Amino acid sequence: MIKRIPLYVKILAGLAIGIFVGIIAVITNSGGFIIDYVKPFGTIFLNLLKLIAIPLIFTSLVSGIAGLSNIKKFSTLGVQTFVLYIVTTVIAVCIGLGLVNLIRPGDYFSEGKRSEMMAKYGQSISIDEKNVQNLGHRSPLQFLVDMVPENIVDAASSNTSMLQIIVFAVLFGLALISINEQFSEPVKKFIVGLNEVILKIVDFIMLIAPIGVLALMAGLIVDVIGKDAAEGIQLFVSLGLYFLTVLVGIFIIIILIYPSILRIFVKVSFRQFYKAIFPAQLVAFSTSSSAATLPVTMEQVEKELGIDREITSFVLPLGVTINMDGTSLYQAIASIFIAQVMGIDLSLSQMLTVLIMAVMASIGSAGVPGAGMVMLIVILNSIGIPAEGLALIIAIDRPLDMFRTVVNVTGDAMIATLLGKNRKIT
Ligand code: ASP
Repeated sequence: MIKRIPLYVKILAGLAIGIFVGIIAVITNSGGFIIDYVKPFGTIFLNLLKLIAIPLIFTSLVSGIAGLSNIKKFSTLGVQTFVLYIVTTVIAVCIGLGLVNLIRPGDYFSEGKRSEMMAKYGQSISIDEKNVQNLGHRSPLQFLVDMVPENIVDAASSNTSMLQIIVFAVLFGLALISINEQFSEPVKKFIVGLNEVILKIVDFIMLIAPIGVLALMAGLIVDVIGKDAAEGIQLFVSLGLYFLTVLVGIFIIIILIYPSILRIFVKVSFRQFYKAIFPAQLVAFSTSSSAATLPVTMEQVEKELGIDREITSFVLPLGVTINMDGTSLYQAIASIFIAQVMGIDLSLSQMLTVLIMAVMASIGSAGVPGAGMVMLIVILNSIGIPAEGLALIIAIDRPLDMFRTVVNVTGDAMIATLLGKNRKIT
């Protein structure tokens, strides 16, 4: 009976129960129990997803390339993916800039509240600032240098180095189809077999997804509002308009932009697309990490939307690292909001700088929780706003991170669907 319930319903139930359990625990003062006995299951689920991400990227990408008939097909796919990712990111930033200038949430923020928040959260910013300080002195081509690992074991040891794994896997795959069949055949067979094993592990992990999501949500509720619920509510009241501005942007992208692109170019309906990727969206929401969600996104796009592994194995991991529409929308809104609160009027050329920097920063952000906010410092620096301004938004960053990660994952799945369904392109 339970077997017949669709996966997304089970995960949605897990999410709802997790929120419910978390709230009850906060009300009854039993948050300690949740942290000690429920949250660990969420951490196990998250670790399993992270554990499988790198082997999945490597084996899928190499077996995808091994199945290609020629190298030219691959380079065309590479260029198209990159261009589409940049175009959607620019659209997202423009929506963000439009909304934040229209709604002007910063204008409703009182002077007193501003000093209070700066005093309270100001210290935590310096650590983040140190992390990005070096970025200021880097060559504009540093991102190219960063893409090439100097040691593959090092690169594979962190889920933030996915781009390096992609580069190695592409090199490996291309070399594999360029050598004599006598040598390539056994290696191909081994990697294709290994890929099947990894995909089976993803199936196993998905079996516990509803429980994992439940535990993550319950733990998160206790962590976030458990400490001081009254303060939490107060924060939401004062930052409500900023929060709402980001949410409106997110809904415009999810409900209007992505479905329109799919409908116009590949005739995939709203229902068909969202039904397929809803489980990935729910996992993205509860983990705040598009990198951790990757195994689920790949599984759903392949199985439910019927997109070839050849496409998903390249387009989706690349998307996790360079395509972050939700993050770039948020970065545009957050930076202008901070400027508005600080009473700094930005010129048109500064707005343009925000646009360019938000596109670059979202490419540079890793698909892990909070990465978008750290990269926001780079944008603030570029328009002369002190990084301390981050203190104004840091307290409600986690819930926004959950929403923007959903957009990031959806954007990757949308482009994979677009390229996969439009065979003429590939
Ligand atoms: N958490 C986001 C992701 O994983 C990145 C960010 O905006 O912080 O996609």
